[in-house]
Amino acid sequence: MDPYKIEELITSKTKALLVTHLYGQTTRMKKYLEICKKYNLYLLEDCAQSHYSKYDGKYSGTFGDLGFFSFYPTKNMGAIGDAGAVTTNREDLALKIKKLRNYGSIQRYKNEMVGHNSRLDEIQAGFLNIKLEFMKQFTDERISIATRYNNEITNPLITKPIIAKGATSVYHLYVIKLENRDKFRDYMLKNGVKTDIHYPQPVHLTQAYQYLNYKVGDFPIAERNCELVCSIPLFNGMKKEEIDKVIEVINRYEE
Ligand SMILES: *Cc1c(COP(=O)(O)O)cnc(C)c1O
Repeated sequence: MDPYKIEELITSKTKALLVTHLYGQTTRMKKYLEICKKYNLYLLEDCAQSHYSKYDGKYSGTFGDLGFFSFYPTKNMGAIGDAGAVTTNREDLALKIKKLRNYGSIQRYKNEMVGHNSRLDEIQAGFLNIKLEFMKQFTDERISIATRYNNEITNPLITKPIIAKGATSVYHLYVIKLENRDKFRDYMLKNGVKTDIHYPQPVHLTQAYQYLNYKVGDFPIAERNCELVCSIPLFNGMKKEEIDKVIEVINRYEE
């Protein structure tokens, strides 16, 4: 999202701004905070990929009215099944979220609104409580792997992730960009390194949002990025030889 293009798009129907801290980097919040204040909008943060990531010394999930965390197993803080949490400093919203997650009810059999069944079950909560103690260590491990990639991937065909001034990344994903990405992926796989694409399709072109009538060309930067991005291996427990190999194979790649 380009913070400098938001204002012209705000209408009387606009209620909230939803920012996503993509790939683990807390997005630059300053402008978003200003806009939300100026137009009296809710600020919502998608923190599914950004546990422990910061901007201006503040954690993601502490800027907006609401922060949404996912503990899906593949996330930086993954449970052993589906789980998530919402952060807020507002009592009124906390109460509303508590209702929404439990069929619109706080008091048993008194349903105040239409809600969902979105409770965090005890097994997941217990597991996450234990994991929480190790999160600093797990996060540091991710950052140290990413730091090796930042320093040691030197292939000029590859664009590495850029971290904005004032922001940190917890590298949920390490996403590089390059031309002829699919050829690169074939080469990597032939050399024993699996890669992935996050994400192959921009949101506006998904079938789910067809009813909004967007077409190819409406969001050219997102569309272009979908052709260029490639995620390389980065996970807790990655061995030194595995990191060495990823770097070596990437640096050896030629078009
Ligand atoms: C995983 C993810 C979600 C969805 O989280 P769930 O816990 O599966 O609902 C939302 N946004 C982003 C950016 C994600 O990575």
